[in-house]
Amino acid sequence: MVLNRLCDLEECVKPLELAEVPEPVPGENDILIRVSACGVCHTELDEIEGRTPPRLPVIPGHQVVGRVARAGRGAKRFRVGDRVGVAWIFSACGKCPQCLAGNENLCAEFKATGRDADGGYAEYMTVSEDFAHPIPEVFSDVEAAPLLCAGAVGYRSLRLTNLEDGRSLGLMGFGASAHLVLMMAKRRYPGSEVFVFSRSPEERAFALELGATWAGDVGERSPEPVAGIIDTTPAWRPVVEALANLAPGGRLVINAIRKEERDKDYLLRLDYPAHLWMEKEIKSVANVTRRDVGEFLELAAEMRIKPEIQEFTLEDANRALIELKTRRIHGAKVLAIPIH
Ligand SMILES: [Zn+2]
Ligand SMILES: [Zn+2]
Repeated sequence: MVLNRLCDLEECVKPLELAEVPEPVPGENDILIRVSACGVCHTELDEIEGRTPPRLPVIPGHQVVGRVARAGRGAKRFRVGDRVGVAWIFSACGKCPQCLAGNENLCAEFKATGRDADGGYAEYMTVSEDFAHPIPEVFSDVEAAPLLCAGAVGYRSLRLTNLEDGRSLGLMGFGASAHLVLMMAKRRYPGSEVFVFSRSPEERAFALELGATWAGDVGERSPEPVAGIIDTTPAWRPVVEALANLAPGGRLVINAIRKEERDKDYLLRLDYPAHLWMEKEIKSVANVTRRDVGEFLELAAEMRIKPEIQEFTLEDANRALIELKTRRIHGAKVLAIPIH
């Protein structure tokens, strides 16, 4: 399924075209993957509508699971038939100061799967063997696919809070990624209390069910100041409110690709002593590293995380995207691609 031109999904309901393309040829250190499942992500909507513009034409898809079909001459890491996954990080240079410091997600030459290189909305794709991930056995192909994006990014945001066990964690917004982060936090930091801030009473009740100590509205104060807060909302007010809830030296991690302009004037309420004084920090999350993907997959296997799945055929990718856009969400959407 190929994206040939950008479009507004309000007007165009079939952004991708079914096409017969040549089977990709793996380079020296690449593997050719026979794709069996690919998750459908909000970022694909951002690509199609031009908010994170892709190379054109491009085959989207960055939550890819499949089996090694062939390897380049220099690729020795996997055997034919091995099950592997490909996430958002398709490649990075490996040589710049960011890469050498372990921040390959920030590399100037960072390439994203399905945006800067062809991805998994296809029967085959190639990737460098170094950027493929073994998939833990506990997951089926379709179960593993959606873990490769939101889960890995959620794991990175939790890592970036620098939390220590026993210090409290706050979650501002409680969507799908935040559920996963709450579950991961309960496992990684069993001594830490988790406070959830959400506008939605249903989400607050769900947070308590999943083990949060406290759940309140966005403008409320948590029972105690919080050491680290992860904000997954698209708005600005939660940023200001989160800063007010931070303990001295605390860090706010913003896990959002972009913020909407709508309530930006709320930032004028920033009060230096209340929101920033006492060495409070703000940090955003960009992309993922291989380490995030690998560590998250291990943790997810340990925790037996089983995402709820809604399967589509490859040919039905457009319908999956439109349903995602119109928020008809019944679990994570995954393209299941049968192997003939
Ligand atoms: Zn994604
Ligand atoms: Zn680099």
